[in-house]
Amino acid sequence: MKIIETDIVVIGAGPVGLFTVFEAGLLGLNCHLIDNLDKVGGQCIELYPEKPIYDIPGVANQTGKEHIDALLDQIKPFDYEVHLNQRVNEISEVDDSWKLVTSEGQEFKTKNIFIAAGAGSFEPRKPPVVEPDKFLNRGINYSVRNKSIYEDKEIAIFGGGDSALDWSVELSKIAKKIYLIHRRDEFRGAQHTEKKMRELVAKEKIILKVPYVIKDINGKDNFTG
Ligand SMILES: Cc1cc2nc3c(=O)[nH]c(=O)nc-3n(C[C@H](O)[C@H](O)[C@H](O)COP(=O)(O)OP(=O)(O)OC[C@H]3O[C@@H](n4cnc5c(N)ncnc54)[C@H](O)[C@@H]3O)c2cc1C
Repeated sequence: MKIIETDIVVIGAGPVGLFTVFEAGLLGLNCHLIDNLDKVGGQCIELYPEKPIYDIPGVANQTGKEHIDALLDQIKPFDYEVHLNQRVNEISEVDDSWKLVTSEGQEFKTKNIFIAAGAGSFEPRKPPVVEPDKFLNRGINYSVRNKSIYEDKEIAIFGGGDSALDWSVELSKIAKKIYLIHRRDEFRGAQHTEKKMRELVAKEKIILKVPYVIKDINGKDNFTG
């Protein structure tokens, strides 16, 4: 495989990696982005393409996908290439440059590496039960790819961080009933979202269940409870 030489290798094609192309482009530098996902966009695309983001300066709100589409538009004028489905496995110093090798055996030579690996090669944190994936995509999901499937449904959301709070608030607009279940009555997410969630609990739009943890998941063909 031919070694690729470039001004900057960006590890990770999430929002930070994509914006690096913009900043590098302003300096007239060429970038190669590497990501082990099968698409660009990092967490925004993989974990919450349809969730609105409210904390982007100058933008009232944008979904994860809209945010990534806007970043891709913003970097259109610049010179970059993306290498997907491969993980950067090795970095070494060779003479006065860096050599990177990916899981596909592709080698890169560059003077600059920008690590935009965010949460790393992320995987969902699964509940501590036997066979947590038994009903995966059959009633159990670790992320929301398409929120319309929750329209008029009863949903139980487990967790106490930003994801759990954001999705409880967002899906309460379309779901029939939302249970937010957490092991304690304290949340790690943004205070503003927690306040919103508690307002929705007071209005009985969200049913808050604390302190509870998942002990087991049951069902036959699909998850039932
Ligand atoms: C459900 C949820 C909701 C959120 N909501 C908000 C919000 O409303 N507002 C907000 O500001 N933030 C929010 N966040 C956080 C936000 O998404 C992250 O801060 C942001 O994605 C970080 O961007 P990043 O580009 O640094 O990293 P990431 O988005 O994590 O992207 C990093 C990329 O690097 C790749 N990678 C890692 N290691 C390697 C390797 N060795 N080789 C190749 N590729 C590699 C990964 O595959 C990934 O695609 C939310 C997060 C989640 C999970």
